[in-house]
Amino acid sequence: MLAVSSERELWLRILEKVEPEVKKAHFLTWFQNTGVISFDEGIMTVGAPNLYAKDWLENKFNEQLIAAIRFIEPRFQNLVVEVRPGFDSNNDNRSIDVTKFFGNEKKMRKLPGKQEVRLAEGVASKCLNPKYTLHNYVIGQNSRLAHAACYSVAHNPGKAYNPLFVYGGVGLGKTHLLQATGNEILRNDPDKIVVYMTSERFTNEIVEAIGKRNSKAFKDRYRKVDCLIIDDIQFLADKEMTQQEFFHTFNELYDNNKQIIISSDRPPRDLRGLEDRLVSRFGMGMIVDVQHPDYETRLAILHAKCREQQSMIHPEVLEFIAKNVPDSVRELEGLLLQAIAEAELEHTTPTVRHVASILKKLRKAIPFEMNAEQDLSRARTSQDVVQIVAEYYKVAAAEIFGEARKSEIMKPRQVAMYLIRTGLNFPYEKIGADFGGKNHTTVMHSCEKVEKALKKDQALIKDINSIKKDMGI
Ligand code: ADP
Ligand code: MG
Repeated sequence: MLAVSSERELWLRILEKVEPEVKKAHFLTWFQNTGVISFDEGIMTVGAPNLYAKDWLENKFNEQLIAAIRFIEPRFQNLVVEVRPGFDSNNDNRSIDVTKFFGNEKKMRKLPGKQEVRLAEGVASKCLNPKYTLHNYVIGQNSRLAHAACYSVAHNPGKAYNPLFVYGGVGLGKTHLLQATGNEILRNDPDKIVVYMTSERFTNEIVEAIGKRNSKAFKDRYRKVDCLIIDDIQFLADKEMTQQEFFHTFNELYDNNKQIIISSDRPPRDLRGLEDRLVSRFGMGMIVDVQHPDYETRLAILHAKCREQQSMIHPEVLEFIAKNVPDSVRELEGLLLQAIAEAELEHTTPTVRHVASILKKLRKAIPFEMNAEQDLSRARTSQDVVQIVAEYYKVAAAEIFGEARKSEIMKPRQVAMYLIRTGLNFPYEKIGADFGGKNHTTVMHSCEKVEKALKKDQALIKDINSIKKDMGI
């Protein structure tokens, strides 16, 4: 029940209280598109559009936020922040566009996002995405040379290697390298004109220009470019008109010492359906390939992505992903991000079992590199539950069944009993018997203890949710 008439109004009143307590720029950035999802029995669930905002609300502004909520809603007890991807663009009416209500000065608003990229007048181009940098590209044996070549080109455009031709399989980081190089050129000299596009996009522009009979204007526009980046050139195969235009553009830029960077899924000699004169030009500068990353590089990439996401994930989970996804960095990253996102939404922490079940859904096959006893089916016995709890808390199952009274063991034991009781509905007597003939009152006491702790211990709620998920319930 809300004291004010709607979640929206409630959040606006809270924001009014928070706003003077927080730096304006921070307020406009981190409270943008946040909102109340529910307020129930003292628990306020607040939605944030992404992980970063959630992190800031939970950690940096926690005090100010809680003080404001308490002022407006005296029945408030606990705050839960959830990521609501739908909140990111105001398409959920609970999320508030704070710039509308609180930010009249445009210059104060410094939201992170795509930076403006200067484009040659009239050149329609996909902007470079600032998230790709040469700095956040993890270098391994597979990509050392490609990265070094991109670095040289970025610091000496038109002079180091021209053209630079990068090739390699799908999802291995070619687009990342190309865009990062463009970004680096602009970072060194914001006045440079860098154009990035896929060869499909390039084709469409040419077709359009020919349709409008203004291919001359098209040519003139590209003359102004300092660096032309064409991604996935293999799609130019069999498109003769486009190849012709590209050939002229290429020569023009090349003759004027303008940088050209090209990527492809295969080396130039294997590009079928491409004119020989074009293919031979690709070999005039430098050809580098990106290979599959080895295990250590995959693990390093996962660690880097976790840092970017500000997500703490158990190294064991990252190792499991690195072992099981050998073919593509895109898949590697995708699995990690999905695990993080699902865990966020469900208030759990990603576990090996959790990731394995996502992988299983994706591939429709049992992943390898799992321990034999890590069966993904639903937990049915006390032994199953104890095994899962033991894995989660990194203790031995035998210890949980044992008598030790250390707190590192007591907690998992109580949690296991609680989950067997609530998840498998076993009677207290049976649980006692399964735990080496313990009295049913001991079991009851353990379950009550966990239940009580769950009322206020956020970390325990997360543990229980994660383990339940691993139990298949
Ligand atoms: P490609 O263009 O070769 O198909 P992408 O450049 O789109 O591959 O890479 C897929 C994803 O993997 C991107 O999100 C990219 O940032 C990431 N990625 C690939 N290689 C690396 C690397 N070495 N370090 C960091 N991220 C990488
Ligand atoms: Mg690509």
